[in-house]
Amino acid sequence: MSTVQSGRSERSDRGSGRGRHAFRNWAGHVHAHPHTFACPASAEELSGIVTDAAAAGDRLRIVGAGHSFTPVAAGDDVMVSLDALSGIVAVDEPRMRVRFGAGTRLRDVPALLEPFGLALENQGDVNPQALAGAISTSTHGTGIGFTGFAGTVTGLSLMGPDGQLRALSAEADPETFDLARVSLGVLGVITEVELQCVPAFDLIAEEKVAGFDELLDGLTKRMRGADHFEFYWFPHTDSVLTKTNTRVGPGQSGPGHLAEAGVRNRWLNLLDKEVVENGALRLAVELGAKIPAAVPPINRIAQSVVADRTYRAPGHDVFVTPRRVRFNEMEYALPFAAGPEAIREIRETIEAKGWSISFPLEVRCAAADDVPLSTASGRETMYIAVHRFIKEDFAEYFRVIEEILCRHGGRPHWGKIHTRTAAELSELYPRFADFCALRTRLDPEAMFGNRFTDSLFGLTRR
Ligand SMILES: Cc1cc2nc3c(=O)[nH]c(=O)nc-3n(C[C@H](O)[C@H](O)[C@H](O)COP(=O)(O)OP(=O)(O)OC[C@H]3O[C@@H](n4cnc5c(N)ncnc54)[C@H](O)[C@@H]3O)c2cc1C
Repeated sequence: MSTVQSGRSERSDRGSGRGRHAFRNWAGHVHAHPHTFACPASAEELSGIVTDAAAAGDRLRIVGAGHSFTPVAAGDDVMVSLDALSGIVAVDEPRMRVRFGAGTRLRDVPALLEPFGLALENQGDVNPQALAGAISTSTHGTGIGFTGFAGTVTGLSLMGPDGQLRALSAEADPETFDLARVSLGVLGVITEVELQCVPAFDLIAEEKVAGFDELLDGLTKRMRGADHFEFYWFPHTDSVLTKTNTRVGPGQSGPGHLAEAGVRNRWLNLLDKEVVENGALRLAVELGAKIPAAVPPINRIAQSVVADRTYRAPGHDVFVTPRRVRFNEMEYALPFAAGPEAIREIRETIEAKGWSISFPLEVRCAAADDVPLSTASGRETMYIAVHRFIKEDFAEYFRVIEEILCRHGGRPHWGKIHTRTAAELSELYPRFADFCALRTRLDPEAMFGNRFTDSLFGLTRR
């Protein structure tokens, strides 16, 4: 029996084969034991795996980096990793569109794009994910002028249960392309993705502590006034850590007070992220898990020692922070204006319940996009995320906070913990029924799914 820990390690095992395999997601609470775990080296090999699975009546799940917090990528029969289908396939330099193998990891993209002077338009806060994995769950960063990854997709290659590839774009089969941009792997296997890229850019990062009430009073304005704005609030404290990132072209100076921002030494930046953001956090949450009463004072001390800082670095280095301390997460996408009220309610609830919560709330935003199942589809969005250390039970905290987020019109992140079912999701997405109908047409036997995705799309196998 070989062990495949996609979420847990930088997996070096590329061996394919039958026999029970063990899959665990990054947070460690999702487990699966497929009889086959395959890592095809080509689309032809993948096609054989897909048609064999179809002939055997097996269900097949594609896994990226295993970074989803739910069983969305887990499979009981066949699991497939596209780690070997990675790298650049083609570059359309005039249009700045780059076609990648779907298994390309986000962390590898900056070096791949560097020779072309290009970059991804926006990113989330980590980079181990596979491109297709990130796109398929509507992964996003922050910035009211920027969409999540799915909004930058300009083309896809999708393999159906017959092992055949379809080229999808706004020109080729636009209806399928439209719906396949966020599809949780239930429409088939994405083998290539084409992304609209942008000229490479630096970010000037300003990290500052602000008062909770003062920030919430001006939050929507603050988000509209920045290229990228997010904040973290540690429960039991009165202050927040804000991160404001301003885009500048390489070699150009920043506007106004940012003109003098120094380029931060890459290693110093990394050291800071490792020691301050991970090392200190680990100590705090480990202690908090053992002595819950210690959490409020620890959080207050942690907030009081955070120093304001301003620095400049390539965009991808600023966006991303390694996450060494493992947690479970729930995140909801709210209508933009509803965010501040929901955050206040969450704070009141945490205080009223007397919970000790060591991990911060994370608040971000995104532009509206036109991707049918994107969490920001058709509306400007404020994202609110809650986290719980893996050694602590998240059930009650997430359940109660989820009620608040749903009451404010929230849509759950497709890769994070939630309890929504098909009937509720259909109310949140105007094109939900179209998506389900497309799935039935492309994959009538529902082979690209599992019990979890069935609960989301209300489907059962024939
Ligand atoms: C530490 C951490 C930080 C995170 N930060 C952010 C963040 O900043 N912003 C955010 O929005 N999310 C964030 N997430 C969530 C994460 O981005 C998503 O869950 C994402 O889907 C994970 O990518 P993955 O490659 O691990 O995909 P997996 O979790 O392995 O798979 C996700 C889905 O994609 C499907 N899939 C993968 N590859 C293919 C393919 N080739 N064809 C078809 N379907 C495919 C899978 O079947 C599954 O349904 C974070 C998660 C973690 C653990």
